[in-house]
Amino acid sequence: MYTRIYFFQFPKTTTDKPIIYRLIKEHDVEVNILRANILPQQEGIMILEIKGTKNNVKEALAYLEGLGVGIERLATRVRRDEERCFQCGACTGICPVGALYIRREDMAVLFDADKCTGCSQCVLICPVRAMEMSLGKEWHEIEKNVALNSSD
Ligand code: SF4
Ligand code: SF4
Repeated sequence: MYTRIYFFQFPKTTTDKPIIYRLIKEHDVEVNILRANILPQQEGIMILEIKGTKNNVKEALAYLEGLGVGIERLATRVRRDEERCFQCGACTGICPVGALYIRREDMAVLFDADKCTGCSQCVLICPVRAMEMSLGKEWHEIEKNVALNSSD
């Protein structure tokens, strides 16, 4: 099954629409909400894992794009700090897609950003925090606005 994790930014106009329902019902994908900040009539953000056939996932994304939803693969926010990494290899056993792997010739631990799904398991396991995931200032600004508005 094709699985990807995305960072979505929903415009105000979409908060009253049954988007998740439609993704499941009309585009035949499985969704797993990993994190979300959605309030009525406000810009919202969500980290969502989507599973399905590659084509269904593509169509689901096209549907969201048509609604003006900002879409970014979460994997693009995963980085390795090469200076911190001491090549212990602990992350290679946990990465579910082989994006962190050992090159047998020289036993170097390599990171293939193209394979990464953004699951963040390596971020949790790395003993020196060499693997990093930054949600960026957009996320924090929107979270701050949502918190301010929800305390009104
Ligand atoms: S667990 Fe951390 S230090 Fe060890 S190889 Fe992976 S990124 Fe490098
Ligand atoms: S976030 Fe880390 S563990 Fe998850 S797929 Fe990417 S490299 Fe592998």
